[in-house]
Amino acid sequence: MKLNDIKKVTIVGCGTMGNGIAQVFAQTGFNVNLVDIDQAFLDRAVATIGKSMDRQIKKEKITAGDKDAALARISTSTDLAVAADSQVVIEAVTEQLNVKLEIFKKLAEVCSTDAILASNTSSLPITQLAAATNNPGQFIGMHFMNPVPMMKLIELIRGIATSDETFNTIKALAEKLGKTPVEVNDFPGFIANRILLPMINEAIFAHMEGVGTVEAIDSVMKLGMGHPMGPFTLADFIGLDVCLAILEVMFDGLGDPKYRPCPLLKKMVQAGYLGRKTGRGFYNYEK
Ligand code: NAD
Repeated sequence: MKLNDIKKVTIVGCGTMGNGIAQVFAQTGFNVNLVDIDQAFLDRAVATIGKSMDRQIKKEKITAGDKDAALARISTSTDLAVAADSQVVIEAVTEQLNVKLEIFKKLAEVCSTDAILASNTSSLPITQLAAATNNPGQFIGMHFMNPVPMMKLIELIRGIATSDETFNTIKALAEKLGKTPVEVNDFPGFIANRILLPMINEAIFAHMEGVGTVEAIDSVMKLGMGHPMGPFTLADFIGLDVCLAILEVMFDGLGDPKYRPCPLLKKMVQAGYLGRKTGRGFYNYEK
């Protein structure tokens, strides 16, 4: 499969990441199938994509005509079988190994034998996901950053069997999307989360031990280190459940106690304080 062969892409999962990925592909001129388990989620995702493009129109980055053309390239379905005519399929569903393995088993049945399958997982082993398919050479991690339309980076994660051809085609695809791909080998957390999550976890430990308030720690990292967001603001943005899941994968996968999730993070997740998406995390967004 070469870049020019790619005309249609299926995105599985239309949440935070899936709708952003679908938007970027549609705006680059690809036809997109967006798949999720409930049509209401898909309708909401298309509305979110429309609103995101409205903001781009306001900033005069695109025209109303560009928006209409991009939206016309997106079709939605609750049936994974629509992936049959796609050259590339990107999975962006909930970060649960069993859910993803099930999806890749089904995709292996419906997709053409030369299709490339990719996962947007933040932390799960690409090699293990690839093993659920018939063609692990045509499997790769494509880790987009949130918010997808804004962020330039895509980590391209090679599973142990990922072929050079697959890697090179997906690298060219990432560049066509206007992104900057970075090559990463398959270890828990890849590069971004291997470095980011221990920092967030340490900030939570420091706060739990009374070193400083949430606001104080965020201020130090913003004003002292030049980070655009402090670690608590960022954790709330990512989702505290997502942060916990990534730390657990790194703790299990690397077996080093330095990755143990902070008990306060676990308590926040148990309470349902998951960050912006639930209106409350380390900050309160209900007001
Ligand atoms: P999300 O909860 O916003 O969306 C997940 C979507 O998957 C939901 O719409 C859900 O209905 C759908 N889904 C669940 N099971 C499904 C199935 N069997 N078939 C089809 N759809 C199904 O999650 P998200 O934040 O978009 O994360 C998706 C993936 O992207 C995860 O692997 C996550 O680790 C990764 N990721 C997240 C971020 C982030 O900042 N949120 C950043 C990079 C990567």
